[in-house]
Amino acid sequence: AAAAALALAGCSSDRGGSGGSTSAAGFAADSTIGIALPDKTSENWVLAGGLFTDGLKKAGFKGDVQYAPASNTVAEQQNQISSMVTNGAKVIVIGAKDGKQLGTQLQQAADAGVKVIAYDRLIENTKNVDYYVAFDNFKVGQLQGQALLDGLKKRSGHDAPWNIELFSGSPDDANAAVFFNGAMDVLKPKIDDGTLKVLSGQTAVAQTATQGWEAENAQSRMDTLLTGNYTSATLDGVLSPNDTLARAIITSITQAGKDISKITVTGQDSEVESVKSIMAGQQYSTINKDTTLLVAQTIKMIGQLQKGEKVDVNDTKQYDNGVKVVPAYLLAPVIVTKENAAEAYKNNPNLLAIVKAAS
Ligand code: BGC
Repeated sequence: AAAAALALAGCSSDRGGSGGSTSAAGFAADSTIGIALPDKTSENWVLAGGLFTDGLKKAGFKGDVQYAPASNTVAEQQNQISSMVTNGAKVIVIGAKDGKQLGTQLQQAADAGVKVIAYDRLIENTKNVDYYVAFDNFKVGQLQGQALLDGLKKRSGHDAPWNIELFSGSPDDANAAVFFNGAMDVLKPKIDDGTLKVLSGQTAVAQTATQGWEAENAQSRMDTLLTGNYTSATLDGVLSPNDTLARAIITSITQAGKDISKITVTGQDSEVESVKSIMAGQQYSTINKDTTLLVAQTIKMIGQLQKGEKVDVNDTKQYDNGVKVVPAYLLAPVIVTKENAAEAYKNNPNLLAIVKAAS
């Protein structure tokens, strides 16, 4: 009732409020909603754009979906967000290219009463981010770490110790460190007790980073790791934070003449080419973060903001952006290997067809 009263009075109660139980003033049901996505380097971003366009239309909104271009990406995304504010968007959903560089634009959004939802990637160092919606990133990392351990046992053909190398994502993406920390939560005790050996010695997140999440950067780092450490030593596994990088790492390993069927490489995103690779016994694992669910949850939150209702959140602790803890709705990621692929993709006709064709 309080929310409704505020909505009628046309004022917002939640700016600067704490965790999740916020209410908003509401806005017209056919308002413009801005969607700013970072790039098209991973399939999930491409999928998200299409799903937002269709889903927002179905929900009665005017969707304005934009990708930051490949060059001058950060500045262009800043411009896109500014224009969304000026063009009267009521909510802006942002998959940040660089989550630390949107402070000015989000202040502009706040001043105009625009709600901001960080999508998939946290936006840091600003109070002007209202909600975060994502798959549980730390859990993604833990699942990757566990999959690496499982794969080593199954594929290497020998007992511990196993030689592994570690990769993380782009330093400008807040997720990169969270994935890595989740994985290290599982792997670090095994490195400390000698079960796992990282011959390069590169175990800090900064040493393992892949600038821009770009495949060529991962491939060249893997080339260097192989020539520097594994000309005679056996490589048993690689922690890869996503599928795009996993395939680049596998290319490097294969080109070095090593047998990928004995080596465990993890991934994330359930990209088509990686699901094929898993079914062919190359890549060991991926993560299913069903983009349709994430987009649907985001549109649901936009609908709640539109009506001035309480917005669903299920986490008010984990995502401290440096200025505040951002109320979050986290979805559960699912680990996928060849063994459970059919079950994991049972609601995804596209991926299920790949699994069936290969079984
Ligand atoms: C996403 C991953 C994706 C990566 C590269 C991350 O922020 O969470 O799913 O693989 O960006 O696009």
